[in-house]
Amino acid sequence: MASIEDAIEPWMGGSTAVQLFSSGTATRTYDDLIVMPREITFGAHEVDLSSQLTKKIRLRTPLVSSPMDTVTEAAMAIAMAEVGGIGIIHYNCTVEEQVEQVRIAKAHIPGQVVFPAVLGPDSCLGDLLRLKEETDETAFCVTADGKLGSKLLGLATPADYSLVSDAATPVSELMVREVESINEGSASVDGALAFFQRTKRGCLPVVDGAGNLTGLFTRAALVGRRAMPSPGGEPSRSARDGRLLVGASVGTRESDKERLRRLVAAGIDVVVLDSSQGWSRYQLEMLRHVKEAHPDLQVIAGNVVSAPQVVALARAGADGLRVGMGSGSICTTQEVCAVGRGQAEAVFECARVAARFGVPVLADGGVQNGGHITKALALGAGTVMCGSLFAGTAEAPGRFVVVDGVRVKKYRGMGSLEAMTKGSEQRYLSDTQSLKIAQGVAGTVRDKGHVRRNVPFLAQAVRQGFQDFGCRSVADAQAALAAGELRFRDRTGAAMVEGSIHDMHSYTKQAW
Ligand code: 5GP
Repeated sequence: MASIEDAIEPWMGGSTAVQLFSSGTATRTYDDLIVMPREITFGAHEVDLSSQLTKKIRLRTPLVSSPMDTVTEAAMAIAMAEVGGIGIIHYNCTVEEQVEQVRIAKAHIPGQVVFPAVLGPDSCLGDLLRLKEETDETAFCVTADGKLGSKLLGLATPADYSLVSDAATPVSELMVREVESINEGSASVDGALAFFQRTKRGCLPVVDGAGNLTGLFTRAALVGRRAMPSPGGEPSRSARDGRLLVGASVGTRESDKERLRRLVAAGIDVVVLDSSQGWSRYQLEMLRHVKEAHPDLQVIAGNVVSAPQVVALARAGADGLRVGMGSGSICTTQEVCAVGRGQAEAVFECARVAARFGVPVLADGGVQNGGHITKALALGAGTVMCGSLFAGTAEAPGRFVVVDGVRVKKYRGMGSLEAMTKGSEQRYLSDTQSLKIAQGVAGTVRDKGHVRRNVPFLAQAVRQGFQDFGCRSVADAQAALAAGELRFRDRTGAAMVEGSIHDMHSYTKQAW
């Protein structure tokens, strides 16, 4: 009788990625394939997800929030860095507005309120109540000019204003003037917690040596922070300034060189050259400029989906490459322009070629769940960029509204007419075209809670996937992929249906 080994046919263990992607002529994406399990020899908690974003920047959590105006501004960039990833601040705004977002993110000390509510002494109760409505904050710092950075004069909390009915009452009459504060040099989360415990108060302003307000701790924010799952490590910090790691995007026009200069002065650690098709002379010229004018800045070029594009941009000096064309959830590029590629295949091919240049790739778009992140990393991506996964969280720009009983937030493609009307057309239009053609849509996504809460769960889901296919780290997975040890299978339509929830009368899907 034949041995068991003889009975195992070569196809039975699955195909290598090269065999998979070179079979047939169809392009494949994440849901088309499945990874074959291998022996489990370690715990999921032992999996190390740290990975390269660029040649020089390593992230503890390989997740990046997309430079979109409904995804990444300062609050998202701060949250992403706090959970070990990074946010790329969008540029669909004036240079000053983008620089201000970078400045806020760079100045942020983890644990402090990101945007303290500040009023001037001449503001009245009506102003305070309007700001309360807009921001959901209940504690208001009062400063000499009504802004962060000027002399702290007092503090108004519900105990001071909630029983006052005359909306014209000046804030200076409501506020408490004797406010205990902490110097920014000694401000820490532990110190603030001890203060709240000792005093039973709810707010602790942070001031500089001259008494100017620079930040705020609140009991509510720290209690909320404690309720978040442990992010499992240190925030992403810049090796250069020790501050949170922050990225920003720019276009490839002449005017973007000045924008970039201002962003570099504000302290960005990495720039993303934002273009839906990165293999252009505009981008090659911009890459050359960045390398010459800002040699210490890491630069991510793209987007790319094929080997020749990778070669061109890697040779021009890209430190990272953004992969994806037409895979985004809000994207209509493949429908309108007939170009693009299945994202799984694009990631595999681009990562394989980019590795020859030592350039990490970022799998951008089309990620709907932890399984997609796992597959992107298993196919060679260093990190994964998401838009819709992070849109609709508390940290995303914009306000929640209730539509038909569902709490939603706006999420729109940067190539949607709505976003382009605000200025983002340079990513999608090659030159000063007068006829705007949309390559994206504008809509809403459900309230998804907090990035600070979701990312640790997503990362844990990815660790479990890595445990199932026997890789202890992203570097391990990349080595196993290159050696043909990681095996894959295509999924038929029926296998996909089988792999999803089916045959249930009703169910609730709670991921964590
Ligand atoms: P998602 O994570 O929502 O699937 O995809 C986000 C990605 O879609 C972004 O990072 C960006 O690469 C891409 N994207 C953003 N806006 C647009 C758009 O309007 N059109 C196209 N074609 N792609 C977009």
